[in-house]
Amino acid sequence: MKNNKMNYLLIPIIIVFLAVGAIFTAQYLNSPVTDISMADVPEENSTEPASLPDSIGEIINNGSRVPFGEVHRQLQEAVMITSLQSEVPETEESDDEPDSDENGDKEATSVAEELGVSEVSYIRYTTTALNIRADATIEGERIGVFSEGAEVHVIGELSNDWVQVEYGDTDAFVHGGYLQETVPAEEPSDEEDPETDDTGEEATSVAEELGVSEVSYIRYTTTALNIRADAHIDAERIGGFAEGAEVHVIGELSNNWVQVEYGDTDAFVHGGYLTATDPQAEPEPDPEPEEDTTVVSNPGAIDVLVNRDYRLPADFTPPNLVEPNVRMSPNANNRLLRSEAASALESMFDGAEGDGVILYAQSGYRSYSTQETLFNNYVDSHGYEAASRFSAKPGHSEHQTGLAMDVTSESVNYRLTQDFGNTPEGQWVAANAHRFGFIIRYPQNKESVTGYIYEPWHLRYLGVDLATAVYESGLTYEEYLGY
Ligand SMILES: [Zn+2]
Repeated sequence: MKNNKMNYLLIPIIIVFLAVGAIFTAQYLNSPVTDISMADVPEENSTEPASLPDSIGEIINNGSRVPFGEVHRQLQEAVMITSLQSEVPETEESDDEPDSDENGDKEATSVAEELGVSEVSYIRYTTTALNIRADATIEGERIGVFSEGAEVHVIGELSNDWVQVEYGDTDAFVHGGYLQETVPAEEPSDEEDPETDDTGEEATSVAEELGVSEVSYIRYTTTALNIRADAHIDAERIGGFAEGAEVHVIGELSNNWVQVEYGDTDAFVHGGYLTATDPQAEPEPDPEPEEDTTVVSNPGAIDVLVNRDYRLPADFTPPNLVEPNVRMSPNANNRLLRSEAASALESMFDGAEGDGVILYAQSGYRSYSTQETLFNNYVDSHGYEAASRFSAKPGHSEHQTGLAMDVTSESVNYRLTQDFGNTPEGQWVAANAHRFGFIIRYPQNKESVTGYIYEPWHLRYLGVDLATAVYESGLTYEEYLGY
C-alpha cells in the first residue's frame, strides 16, 4: 500500500520534471547564436545589451578576457556549436571526445574497408554542423567539421548510411543522415552574414517609407549599439558605437529609430539606447591613456612576470612551441606550449589520470597579434575603457609566454568556469599542479593583486622548484616576487 501511494506521488513529479527538462532543452537549442553583445531594440531581448562587466573572466575560445555574462553566453554558444555537430540523427548527444579514444580504433580494418565503399559523385548540403571523421563510424577520428549548409562532394557510399566525402587528400566520412539535396534557403542573419541581406533588395527602405524628419542634436549611447544601413533591426550592420559614445542625430523616424552621422553613408540606430546625459560628466580617464607599463627585459625566461603592469614585447614569440600530447577539449584552440611546459603538462595529465582524474587542455599560446585583434574588436564594440577592464591588452596576456595553459574537465562541460575549482579535477589541479611545475596563477580573492578574478583553470608553468615554492608560500606570484 505504502509503495503504491509513493508511486502515484512520483508519477506527476516525474512528468513535471520531464516537462521542465524539455522546455529548457527547447529554449536552449533555439537560442540564437549571436556574436555581438549589442543592442538594437530594447524591448526585444534577443540581443543582450552590452554592459560593463562587474567581474572579469576569461574565455578561451577566442582567447580574451571578457565579462562573465559574456563568458557564459559565449560558452553557451560554444557548447551549442559543439552539440550541433551531429552525426547520428537518432541520438541527441554527439559523442565527441576529441583525440583520445579508449575504444581502440587501432584495429586492422577500418569500417570503410570492412563495408566497402561504392564510388559515386554528387553534391549534397549539410542540414547542420557536421563532424568529418577519418572512418565511417562515430568512433572514427574527428578531422574536421562542415558548417551548416555547406556544400559537400560525396564520392562514396557505405551500407551503414555513412558517406565518403571530398576533404583535402585524406579519407573523410560523414553520416549521410544530415545531408540533403537542396541548397539551404539563406535565412537573413545579420549577425553572421553582414554582407548579404535578403530584405535589403526591396525597392524602398524603411527610412524612405517612414520618412525622416531632419534634426540636429547630440546624444550619448547607453550601451554598445549597432549601426545599421536602414532603420530596422534586419538591416545590414555597418558598424557599432561604443557605450557612452557621442552620436550626432540628424534624423528622426516614427519607429523610434534615428538617423545618425556616420561617415558618408546613411546610418541608423535605435533611439531607445540614446540619452541626452553626457556620461563624460563623470570623471573618466584619458580614452587612450599612454601605458605606464613596463616591457619586461626577460620575455623568454621561464619565470617571467607578465601582468597588467608588465608586458611582453610585441615581437616576442616563445621558442620551441609544440602541441602537448594530451587530451584536448572539444573547444580547444591555440594548443601550443613551449616544449618544456608541454612535457610538464603531459606529465601532469598522466599523473592526474593515475589518480583517476581526467583533464582536458583548452588553450595555450596566443600570439601578440591574436590578442591585439581580440582587444581591438572589444574596443570597437565596447569602447577602450570598458575593453581594457575585461580584456588583456596585447603584450599583457600570460598566454603569449607559451607557458600558460587553460585546463578544464568534462564535469564542467569543458567550460572555463570557476565551478571547475569545486570539481574533483579542479581540486586535484589545485593540490598537485606545483609538483609538475605549474601554479594556479589567479587564486581566489586575489583580484586586487593579480588584476584578475579567480581562474582555477589558468595554469602557469614556472618549473617544479619555483612552482612548489610559490605554492608553499600561499602567495600570488606577484606577492612572491615582492611586487
Ligand atoms: Zn588562461
